[in-house]
Order: sequence, then structure tokens, then C-alpha cells
Amino acid sequence: MIPSLMTSTNLTVEENAATGANAIEARGLTKIYASQGGAPAKHALKSIDLDIPRGSIFGLLGPNGAGKSTFINILAGLVKKTGGTARIWGFDIDKNPRKSRVSIGVVPQELSIDPFFTPFDLLDLHAGMYGVPKAERRTAEILSVLGLADKAHAYARTLSGGMRRRLLVAKAMVHSPPILVLDEPTAGVDVELRQQLWDYVRTLNALGATIVLTTHYLEEAEAMCDRIAIINHGQVIACEPTPQLLARISDKRLVITPAHLVAMVPESLTSLNVERLGDGRLAVQYNPADTPVMMLLDRFKEAGIQIADISTEESDLEDVFLQLTSK
Ligand code: ADP
Repeated sequence: MIPSLMTSTNLTVEENAATGANAIEARGLTKIYASQGGAPAKHALKSIDLDIPRGSIFGLLGPNGAGKSTFINILAGLVKKTGGTARIWGFDIDKNPRKSRVSIGVVPQELSIDPFFTPFDLLDLHAGMYGVPKAERRTAEILSVLGLADKAHAYARTLSGGMRRRLLVAKAMVHSPPILVLDEPTAGVDVELRQQLWDYVRTLNALGATIVLTTHYLEEAEAMCDRIAIINHGQVIACEPTPQLLARISDKRLVITPAHLVAMVPESLTSLNVERLGDGRLAVQYNPADTPVMMLLDRFKEAGIQIADISTEESDLEDVFLQLTSK
């Protein structure tokens, strides 16, 4: 463990005192991309209010085109906002652009790494670009945290895809920003590597980094994030701790395997909206708060159905997402 790795960018306590508990605060953040060559103006962010707590692994979830990159790029100083305010680690991005920018490290999606640099040289060069004095550079530490110590002096072109991604994370860490933003970190990455990356992200968080993760993989947000904001059409449509978000859909699904062929759903069960599946099983959506599962099973028995097996399914983030975005 390297507990000192993620510290607050050489900021003094006074500079940081007013920041409260949030790593990022956005108020009324708005972006309209001007019309271009016949394409109409695009209202990409519609007055976003968002608080990202310090120390969290925060998921920014939404379909393609929702506005996630626009939000991140405004914070990173790459896109100019149309309106609203944003504070990064307490620093207003307009009033304190330099300090707000060094408080955040953004890991881009694309794997663009100069193939003729070694990871060590690349990080050292990047630290120089951020003005980190030689004595304060932590190149070897960072490479070690990301499992790249033994590749420190290998040409980048010899690194595997997973190592390249980790090197990009390392690159975003050279100036020790307290906030790391990972833009779609596992897009197009295989399952094994995805697990590995998740482990590294958890390690960085345990070392003190606030992590912001954009993703359109629901599974990823569910597995990684302690808090999730769902963005759709440039608006935040939900922002809650992950378990609370999942609990918003209380419906469960009961699937019954009859002990005998049930060709049609019995008349007496139509009020329950029982669905007969292609394989002959019967499924019913229910809310455990209103309808105890035992009552449902009794209704099936009363309708003359003998039950060979039952299973119930919880709703997952996919259900929440579909429910919220279909509104
Ligand atoms: P996401 O990252 O969630 O996929 P983006 O922030 O990239 O979403 O895009 C949000 C909306 O803004 C989309 O409709 C996109 O087409 C539009 N957009 C993004 N960048 C530009 C740009 N440079 N010029 C015009 N429209 C843009």
C-alpha cells in the first residue's frame, strides 16, 4: 500500500477549506453546441446539478449521446460550458482554472500511447508537463500500484491492451490529482481484463482517490459504484446510492415450472397477469410489499397447477434504467 499516493495536488489546507464533502459540484451546468454546417444547435447539457462526494466511486451512467463526455470535458477544461458553474475539489473552474484542472486526472477512452516511449519515460515526461518537480515525481510508485513495475523500461508498443489501459491511468495520476475520471474504461475489453481493471480502480479508491466512471455498461456501474447518476438527453434523471437506486424498483418476478403441461393460463389467474413462457413455465410480476409470494403460490394451487419448481428474480439496474429512461 502507498497511502500517500493520492493526495490533494499540493493544495494548502486553507485553499481547500471551503470545499466541504464534495469532490465535484455542478450547478445549472449547461452546454449548447452551436449549429454547424446545416446541423442544428445541440442542447447537450440541460442545467445539470450534481454533487460527487469525496472518496466515492461515482458512476455516470447513460446511453450514447446522453451528455457524459460533454460533462467530463467541461470539467477537464476541454469543452467550454454555455452556462452554470462547476467546482472541482472546491475550485471554481472559471475563477481558478489552473487549480481546478490539476485537481482532476482524466483517463481517455482511446489507447493512444507513443509506441517508442517506455512507461517510465512517458510518465516522467508527463509529470514534467504538469510541472511536477523531479524530487516529487512518483513514477516508480505509480507504475507499481498499477502493476506495471516490471514493464517500466519496456517499449510501450510491447504492452498488452490491458497494460496500455493501465498506463493511461498511470499517466492521469502523475500530478497526484485527488480525482480520477475514467471515461468508459472497459469499453471493448474482455471479461477477464475488465475484472482486473475493476480491481485496480478499487485499489486506487482505497488509496484515497475519488473515482468518477462513465459507462454505458449497467453491470459495471452496479459492480463498481457506490453512487450512480443516470444521465439521459442532457439531464440527470436519478442520482442515488447504488442500493437505493436498485430498490426503486421493488417488483420481483416469480417463475413457476408446473409439474404437468399447462397449455393455457387458467381463467382464475388472468387478474394476476400471468404470462406463459415458450418453455411452458409461468411467470408473474409482483410486488412483495403488496402481494406475499405465498399468496401467489396458493392462487396457483387453487387453479389446479401443481408446482415442480419456482424461482424469483430481483430487478437489476437494467430494469431501473429502462424504467427511468422510458419516461
Ligand atoms: P455521451 O458521452 O453520453 O455519449 P456526448 O457528451 O458525447 O454524450 O454527446 C451529447 C450530445 O452532444 C450528443 O447529441 C452529441 O451528438 C452532441 N455533441 C457532442 N459533441 C459535439 C460537438 N463537438 N458538436 C456538436 N454536437 C456535439
